[in-house]
Amino acid sequence: MQSSLATSDNRLKIAVQKSGRLADKSFALLERCGLTFSRSKDKLFCYGRNVPVDVLLVRDDDIPQLLVDGVCDLGIVGENVSEEQRLVRSARGDTADYTTLKKLSFGTCRLSLAIPEFQEYTGPASLEGKRIATSYPGLTNQYLKENGVSARVVHLSGSVEIAPSMGTADVITDLVSTGTTLRANHLKEAEVIMRSTAVLLQSASPLDEGLEPVLKRLLARIDGVLEAQESKYVMLHAPADRVAEIRRILPGAESPTVLKLEGNDDRVAVHAVCRETVFWEHLEELKEAGASAVLVLPVEKMLA
Ligand code: ATP
Ligand code: ZN
Repeated sequence: MQSSLATSDNRLKIAVQKSGRLADKSFALLERCGLTFSRSKDKLFCYGRNVPVDVLLVRDDDIPQLLVDGVCDLGIVGENVSEEQRLVRSARGDTADYTTLKKLSFGTCRLSLAIPEFQEYTGPASLEGKRIATSYPGLTNQYLKENGVSARVVHLSGSVEIAPSMGTADVITDLVSTGTTLRANHLKEAEVIMRSTAVLLQSASPLDEGLEPVLKRLLARIDGVLEAQESKYVMLHAPADRVAEIRRILPGAESPTVLKLEGNDDRVAVHAVCRETVFWEHLEELKEAGASAVLVLPVEKMLA
């Protein structure tokens, strides 16, 4: 990804959230891809020092529009925002000219229907005629339509969870990760409408000249970072005649390296990269298969 790759001053522009739940992790992902930046005085523009890639720090809700307008080439937002804006735009007759390039590993949450804690929930039909407060009218209306329910959607831009106690709505749909905010407002989760993680979006506008290889390398590095996050390097000692069994237990492992142990012909050292999460249960199974001295190490970087 040397700057020489870009034939002119053209630079790839990525929009990420300025502050909020996705901000630090989005920026950290780009830094883990080896990108370094100089920040503008207002701290809203980050100039890529070692690659022709710049970052714009904005409100997450503005990112889809920046992609539609071709102001930015890439953007990181929650699927909830990406899909909501797609629905709202298409209801207005506008196009949503962006595509999802990758699901990322952070920003996990769900858009859920929540109702007052002492109310009984008997399914979507019980929402008939109710007032539903939400910041996600597009996704909420789509859910109601899919379930053949007619209800009034009240659009609020924030503090949706207080709407039932204020009397401005009967129930809400809102983003939930732990459910603590709902409980604090005497609400309970009744239904999950959508599961969401952060995604990398790409504008449908063509990339400026020379940027295709820059994008390709950035995507390969993002894949490497995501894979390294999941992967672990496992080292253990095992009975020489049980290596095949050990290999089957190791989650997502390719051919392991098998090494001789000095002064011991019965046991060998097995080293393997596991590309799936290694749980305690796996370690216990390995032990039962005769493994000892099991070490699980993080993987810093990975290039396929
Ligand atoms: P902005 O000022 O940029 O508009 P915001 O208030 O809309 O910020 P945040 O609350 O920072 O946004 O959430 C950003 C994204 O983080 C959400 O759109 C969602 O994808 C994700 N997220 C993960 N967990 C949660 C959660 N518990 N509540 C809200 N959003 C969550
Ligand atoms: Zn927002």
